[in-house]
Amino acid sequence: MLRGLVVHDGFSLFGPMITRLEAYDSLFWSLVPRGAVLERLFSGTAWAEGPVYVRDGGYLVWSDVPNNRMYRWSRSAGGSVHRAPSNYSNGNALDHCGRLLTCEHLTRRISRTEPDGSVVTVVDGYEGKRFNSPNDLVVKSDGSIWFTDPPYGILSDYEGRRSASELGGNFVFRFDPSVGELSIVSDDFDKPNGIAFSPDESVLYVADTGGSHTPDGPHHIRAFDVVGGSSLSNGRVFAEISPGFADGLRVDIGGNVFTSAFDGIHVLTAAGEMLGKVLVPERATSNCAFGGEDGSTLFITASTALYAIETATKGATGATAV
Ligand code: MG
Repeated sequence: MLRGLVVHDGFSLFGPMITRLEAYDSLFWSLVPRGAVLERLFSGTAWAEGPVYVRDGGYLVWSDVPNNRMYRWSRSAGGSVHRAPSNYSNGNALDHCGRLLTCEHLTRRISRTEPDGSVVTVVDGYEGKRFNSPNDLVVKSDGSIWFTDPPYGILSDYEGRRSASELGGNFVFRFDPSVGELSIVSDDFDKPNGIAFSPDESVLYVADTGGSHTPDGPHHIRAFDVVGGSSLSNGRVFAEISPGFADGLRVDIGGNVFTSAFDGIHVLTAAGEMLGKVLVPERATSNCAFGGEDGSTLFITASTALYAIETATKGATGATAV
């Protein structure tokens, strides 16, 4: 295993953009091969977030949070508006029936899009109090929905509607839609954000973006042991992310963590060691999702654009929620 920074620059076939890959460990090249090209697939968003690949339709869906809309992109059709208004949607995932689950800031809920196109509420509050603004979510193999609820959609009118927090805290929740059971699984985050399971679902990763509004606030990813499939223990800092902070993240079939950061996507081992980076030519990168026909395309949302790069790995089932 070679450690030490190795930079690989390649020119894009799709425009005047340089793909810059930084390997801190030679294992990185087995995940993101030298010569992989970063494509800019779509631009014009204000703050792109929440990518999910809809395998049945062969397209990616993502949110432009401040512009209150969702987009879709496919290789054959390109990019187009998927839903507008979107209730200031943010994170997206699919349930086990392939239905789109969406975090909505304005309605402060998790919604589900039914096969007929109607959008219904899955869950919108805890013990009679509304959520802050659900940000990101992941679906576990048992169908439960794990999601984060920081206040970004109620802090101002930019990403939702300025409002008071009814809960008085920023929690990580688990919701079991089969029995309607909602529980707080972690209550000690500053601003919980991206969320993903390890491939065997024994570990839950949750980013804390408290550093986005407080200079000395957290900019790390925490890891928890999943106990009995429904609760968490042994919370610890998995990795400090710099520059910037982790917003959205995904896990591949090998257990490696692909996380957003200020300068692009950072790839970490399950032990939290930095393997390398896919640098993105704008600030900042918000999230990523595996997809494409065989699940090996890494789609990346950054502020103004959607990017993609072909990897030599695939998303873990829980990470891609397909
Ligand atoms: Mg987020």
